[in-house]
Amino acid sequence: MAMPQLQTALAELGLKKYRAKQIFDWLYRKCVFDFAQMSNIGKAERELLQEKFSVLPAEVNTVRKLDSSDGLTRKLLLELSDGNAVETVLMHHDYGYSVCVSSQAGCDMHCAFCASGLNGAIRNLSVAEILAQVYVFNQELVSREERVSRIVVMGSGEPMLNFDAVFGALQFLHEPDGANISYRNMTVSTCGIIPGIQRMQELGLPISLAVSLHAVRMELRNELMPVNKGYPFPDVIAAAEQYARSSGRQVTYEYILLKDKNDSDRDAELLAEYLRYKQAGVNLIPVNPVPEKGFFRPDKKRIEKFLSVLQKHHVHATIRKEMGKDINAACGQLRAAFAKEKNYAE
Ligand code: SF4
Repeated sequence: MAMPQLQTALAELGLKKYRAKQIFDWLYRKCVFDFAQMSNIGKAERELLQEKFSVLPAEVNTVRKLDSSDGLTRKLLLELSDGNAVETVLMHHDYGYSVCVSSQAGCDMHCAFCASGLNGAIRNLSVAEILAQVYVFNQELVSREERVSRIVVMGSGEPMLNFDAVFGALQFLHEPDGANISYRNMTVSTCGIIPGIQRMQELGLPISLAVSLHAVRMELRNELMPVNKGYPFPDVIAAAEQYARSSGRQVTYEYILLKDKNDSDRDAELLAEYLRYKQAGVNLIPVNPVPEKGFFRPDKKRIEKFLSVLQKHHVHATIRKEMGKDINAACGQLRAAFAKEKNYAE
């Protein structure tokens, strides 16, 4: 609930309006998620709150916790009240903490290199379930007087297919009473759903857009990302460029490097042709090998050559800094394994 909604709900119960501010302060500043501990609220009112409301993190169960060996990345698998599960990841950078949130439980986009569509029911997450993925980490950080300051919507799911909940959650996190996170510190990543990019443009918020591109040859992109058949990538790049121009935010194109598939000089040249003179940057991501699918990581020399071809054509590009590689290798797989176990148990 946003503040005005909570104020109305409290008024209907005969509680004073200012209680809403106190509750927000407990929940989102102090990260206390239990009404019983809200000591500046009278006992009878606390009991009434307990009876009438639930704070979602209390119902979200952390079923797995993985820490990377470098200590910079923590991944949680959260079980939702319907038994579904989502992954959320906290990363510690020099500039602070960022969280990569999921927008759907599972995903229906069937990208060839992704485990998010495997096993388990696929459904949209609610605003509260998206927010819980951030506040569950704020609750851990609060004792160190730290907070999450960046959000990337890049976990499982296609955010543009759950548009209202994703942008509702981001707007909540932006509010001073919510998490006070600047829109400039938020990124939404899409596999290329053009109507979603256009809606994002209509919102007029300076949120960054990232596009998972991964191939610039029609046939290969159809194979790697079936969404390309509905929204061909040249149209996606055109929509993203319009977004960049209207928002003033550079678009990031994610490009997973797959040995002998999309990592040739010719691929780099084609990519440069598409992105030259655009407000765009490329994030090159050497793949985490999936031998069963024939995905291998190009060697270091090839990766650097690909980068240098882009740079020669004046396309801004970087190689993604690998964080928590040991646990990121399992991206989407934690949820898939959990769903599988549950199915067996049932
Ligand atoms: S990469 Fe993203 S859009 Fe593609 S299947 Fe995985 S979660 Fe879905």
